[in-house]
Amino acid sequence: MKPKYSFINILTGSDLSTRRLALMEMKSPKAGPVIWLTGAVHGDEVGGIIIIQEVFKRLQKYKLLKGSVYALPLMNPIGFETVTRGLVIGRDDFNRSFDLNRSFPGDKYGTLAERIAFTIFNKILKSKPTLVLDLHNDWVNSIPHTLMDPYPGVKYKAVYETTKNYAFNIGLPVINELEEREAVLELKHSLSGALLARKIPTLTLEIGGASPVSSIAKEKDVADGVKAIWDLLTSLNMVQLIKQDFNYKQPDIFKNRILKYSHQPDASTSGIVVYVAKPGDLVKKGQPVAKIYNVFGKVQETLCAQKDSLLLGHSDFSVAFPGADLVSFGIL
Ligand SMILES: [Zn+2]
Repeated sequence: MKPKYSFINILTGSDLSTRRLALMEMKSPKAGPVIWLTGAVHGDEVGGIIIIQEVFKRLQKYKLLKGSVYALPLMNPIGFETVTRGLVIGRDDFNRSFDLNRSFPGDKYGTLAERIAFTIFNKILKSKPTLVLDLHNDWVNSIPHTLMDPYPGVKYKAVYETTKNYAFNIGLPVINELEEREAVLELKHSLSGALLARKIPTLTLEIGGASPVSSIAKEKDVADGVKAIWDLLTSLNMVQLIKQDFNYKQPDIFKNRILKYSHQPDASTSGIVVYVAKPGDLVKKGQPVAKIYNVFGKVQETLCAQKDSLLLGHSDFSVAFPGADLVSFGIL
């Protein structure tokens, strides 16, 4: 079985030229679920590109038993080439002109980000997808996890429950996105939020890290990403089981549970941070996770877990300032 590779065009505002997005397709002769894999909506989060390539190599080696797998491995080629998260082009209203993942469902006549979003969104919708998996990178110092959008209300209960079951079949810790009003408003314009609003199950996989000083796909993270996707395809009977372990061992305590995301407490002083707990640690309420020192080595502040939590990751920098987001947790 061979995949099909093609490009889809995005018109520029002036219609002077087009930009292209790479599209990968693998179809089984037997009808079945339609799965989308999307990568690099944030241009510096490159891990998903390689994960998608590896999944397609596997699909060629082992048969796709039924259904279709589509992929847009590089949704933000401009951000990729400039090693930046967004697109520093266009209007600057509500973040949406530069963050492609805050530009959905897009606008045919909008900013470049909105036009790219429009093209992607409509291409995906047209295929009547069963599930969309959007691949991201978190901090370099983080463990892989699955992000679910916040519960959008009773109207979406059925799609939310279906999405939750897919999330549990992936086998990574499942984290609920922030529920503050602002965040929900912003997430509405993410690929996953906009698809959920159309009642399409969508999950965000945060696998491996990217930072402003290191944006490299690492072998270990690629292996975890391929396993996560392959296990999900296996649960849908689309491929045969391949036995493989995650590099990050998930304790049983996280199975079939959604943990609430938190990045509290923020720093309230400036200084140099030493992290005293590491990604993947189970931390108790009150347990120190980071210490902030002044330049002479005197402790200014000790950041402690506010609840019993799974430590998801910590910042890739040792610089603290008031309000700095230094550690992220999944609350147990
Ligand atoms: Zn991202």
